[in-house]
Amino acid sequence: MPPYSDAFARPRRKMVEEQLIARGVDSPRVLAVLGELPRHHFVDEALASRAYADGPLPIGYGQTISQPFIVALTLQALSLKPTDRVLEIGFGCGYQTAALAQMAAQVYAIERVPDLFDKGRRHLKEFRFANVFLKLGDGHLGWEEFAPFDAIVLAAYAPQVPTRLKNQLATGGRLVAPLGDAVGQSLVLFTKKTDGAVNRRPLANCRFVPLVKGLSAR
Ligand code: SAH
Repeated sequence: MPPYSDAFARPRRKMVEEQLIARGVDSPRVLAVLGELPRHHFVDEALASRAYADGPLPIGYGQTISQPFIVALTLQALSLKPTDRVLEIGFGCGYQTAALAQMAAQVYAIERVPDLFDKGRRHLKEFRFANVFLKLGDGHLGWEEFAPFDAIVLAAYAPQVPTRLKNQLATGGRLVAPLGDAVGQSLVLFTKKTDGAVNRRPLANCRFVPLVKGLSAR
């Protein structure tokens, strides 16, 4: 990562201690990556002072950057290996994408809103990741060309995991998705076992924005 302003080192350390460690996040890799990643760099300047607060923040178009704890819980549940290929649906501002890029071999990330696609791409560009591939499209379809993926992560809720995404998960792969409806959702970890069976484990209650079909107009 390139050097960045460390004006937010203190609130970031506080975020790690009070929001992540205090709530049971204990993956050294997740804590190290989120402890370094400049979250304030992914939100609008006017919101920078709130970037390390314990909640989601608006990123435009009615969408939000997820709460740090939910991102940490998701990353930890994915049990990423440095050789893993990851598919991310709904990359928005690019914060979680940047974390994934440091924990896996390749990250394939899809966003459906053109202006958010541009925003996320702009944020990520400054890190010069050579292992991040971005696509403007509908995440329901996944990214067949690069499947199967060792890990798949959805940053928007659906009533159930879209079939194509399930099919693009490798044997031994992990998928984390918020499942439910507008009233509330459960963040669920799916693990595809070697015999093809899929284990399902709820991680936490959560509130995400919906996974929307089709491409948004510019
Ligand atoms: N993870 C990002 C964004 C979370 S908000 C962050 O923390 O900033 C959820 C994102 O999913 C939004 O950017 C929204 O536009 C996107 N999204 C919703 N439905 C989608 C779909 N079908 N395909 C791709 N992206 C989608």
